[in-house]
Amino acid sequence: MANVIVVGSANQDYVMTTDALPAAGETLLARTFQKFPGGKGANQAVACARLGAQVGFVGAVGDDDDGALMIRELRSEGIDTSEIEITTSERTGMAMVSVLPEGENAITVVPGANFTLAPERVARAVERLITDDSVVVVVVQGEIPVESIAASVVAASKAGARAVVNLAPFVELPAETLQAADPLIVNEVEAAFLTGYVIDSSARAQEAAEDIARQAKSAVITLGAAGASWAVAGASGIVPGLPVAEVVDTTGAGDAFIGAIAAMFTEGRELESAVRVGVEVGALAVARVGAQASYPLREEVRQLAG
Ligand code: ADP
Repeated sequence: MANVIVVGSANQDYVMTTDALPAAGETLLARTFQKFPGGKGANQAVACARLGAQVGFVGAVGDDDDGALMIRELRSEGIDTSEIEITTSERTGMAMVSVLPEGENAITVVPGANFTLAPERVARAVERLITDDSVVVVVVQGEIPVESIAASVVAASKAGARAVVNLAPFVELPAETLQAADPLIVNEVEAAFLTGYVIDSSARAQEAAEDIARQAKSAVITLGAAGASWAVAGASGIVPGLPVAEVVDTTGAGDAFIGAIAAMFTEGRELESAVRVGVEVGALAVARVGAQASYPLREEVRQLAG
């Protein structure tokens, strides 16, 4: 019984805080090190479940300690993990994350097991998790094979579910996959790939959302501290960012935003209203360290309290 199915990556995050990034050939000492469960798919699933949605996760991990930990962590959030495949051919995916003093980060991902997620299995899993009319949203991102992203969107359409597509990291998708995205969600860097221009003002951010919405059913661009722009046919706007006293770690802020939007769609919210909640959840996430570790519970989100 899920009303959101997230198809995507689960990675172990190896997070260092460091004063600078090493140049090629250089060795630097980091300040601190911690391991966190991560991966865009798992992050989005956790953000969504914390706001009260019933989430099922479709993914793949290795037959190793990190994989077992990923599954345990997702289960502890109340997420259905019955469609996580444990593969012996690859290790669990991992991300090497360096967090710089201003909270900015630099990340290298080793996809590992995530790239063994086959389109046929995605289609079967999405179909199996949709046991009744309750599933309203299928969420997918760019850290799994392109064919499996496309298969998720097709499976969502077949089941009458809404497909939320997060084009991160940027990958070339078939036009029909983009056209079914409702919304297609990107950050400023990915938006530049889609539109061919740089977002350098809020007017540009709104225009870019409108341009991207013409390639999809609707569009959202996350703008970091500036919030997010959104567009559907005939309407568009900007939701300004919320001030954060101290930005501690921006890792996974976009995923927090996306999980929140998916959860809000299950409650029947329109795009703009869902984006407002996403912007607040993103702001809460950057004020704390880690990705999943930083995501708020429903009670902490002002717009959802009471
Ligand atoms: P990504 O991490 O995918 O690049 P963004 O940096 O755009 O995503 O962040 C996603 C969301 O998190 C933003 O839309 C915003 O709501 C929130 N956010 C990110 N950085 C900040 C910040 N410095 N201050 C307030 N909110 C932020």
